[in-house]
Amino acid sequence: MKNQLAKIKKQIKSQNIQFVRFLWCDNAGIIRCKAVSTRYIQDYLQGVSIAAAQQALPVMYDAPSAGSGLTPVGEVYMQADWSTFTQLPYSLTHARVLTDIYEGKNPWRHCPRSFLRRTIQKAAALGFEFVAAFENEFYILSPEPGNLTPIDNTLFAQTFALDKSQVVLNEIAHALTAQTIYPEMLYAESGTGQFEMPVRYGDTLKAADQQVVFRETVRAVAQNQGLIASFVPKLFKDQGGNGAHLHISLWHQGKNITANTRGDQISTQTASFIAGILHHLPALIAITTPTTNSFKRLQPHSWSGAFTCWGYGNREAAIRVPQPALGTQITNIELKTVDPTCNPYLALGATITAGLDGITKKMKLSESTQVDPADMIETERKKRGIRQLPTNLGQAIEALEK
Ligand code: GLU
Ligand code: MG
Repeated sequence: MKNQLAKIKKQIKSQNIQFVRFLWCDNAGIIRCKAVSTRYIQDYLQGVSIAAAQQALPVMYDAPSAGSGLTPVGEVYMQADWSTFTQLPYSLTHARVLTDIYEGKNPWRHCPRSFLRRTIQKAAALGFEFVAAFENEFYILSPEPGNLTPIDNTLFAQTFALDKSQVVLNEIAHALTAQTIYPEMLYAESGTGQFEMPVRYGDTLKAADQQVVFRETVRAVAQNQGLIASFVPKLFKDQGGNGAHLHISLWHQGKNITANTRGDQISTQTASFIAGILHHLPALIAITTPTTNSFKRLQPHSWSGAFTCWGYGNREAAIRVPQPALGTQITNIELKTVDPTCNPYLALGATITAGLDGITKKMKLSESTQVDPADMIETERKKRGIRQLPTNLGQAIEALEK
């Protein structure tokens, strides 16, 4: 820690960094920070205070939500995780650290990052670890007064989209790489001006941290280029939504156990893990797709997983098991009912908790669904236990309360 701080102070000096942003993601999924002047950083090594009520602020107004139990009285402290200290490639006089929020000596019960840490410990006690990544879709728009115009009018995977937007896309990729987040692919998504840039997976905490940094970076880089990047789940009624599909693999004693020993089907543990997620999904989506707009995306025939089913290579099922290329093995599952408005610590922690519930209760997984569930007749869906997910946030919250 001492060495790490000495190195950071050196970097602050040599790079002329003026502010360090202490970052946290609130329960509404808003990424917030308080930036400390590097001149006084020594005074903030024990943490930066925020009002406890801060974690109960809705996006619509500036007062704690009724019934949250949090009031304007009382403070909690953001403690830097210095291992995440990084100069911001898109704002070079600033650096950022991700933080855990403490109340006195202990992690605060409302700290999302601490919740994910606790989930990781619970999973470890059961013998499981996870590797994960959020796979984001986003729109790039050029701002014109009173109008948001998509940067191109290309189709899914149309090459011209990458030429048209090469400057901003390259800049995004550079900025992510500079923060040790590595883009793995890039293509035009189906919406006009919509892109997908999956990044390399990491361990559970890193996956959630990466999601915060990804959103920050894409928006800031676009802004620096005079553009707007939007992660709104359903920006245009008649175009593809923005998902942040969650890819997860199950590990046990350093080995990926997502697949069976042949590698061509899921393992029994994965089957129970998926059963747990599907069982809890109507409630879980209050956390993974948590905005009113999220439910405009979560529709049948939109590749967003509107039904509680799973399938190999099925992009209309809530859980897709990506089919391996010839000679390779299944490595992970994909939960489609996640969008970029979620708080990634809560979303990942809650998804893992639901999956572990399936494992500990040895939940039985239904048969895989190999057709679009929206095309099945209702009696067939019923027979297979396939339910359409809540169609609005109110219903999802009701399910969560239950
Ligand atoms: N854009 C779709 C969504 O809202 C996903 C398309 C895809 O399968 O990548 O989740
Ligand atoms: Mg996609």
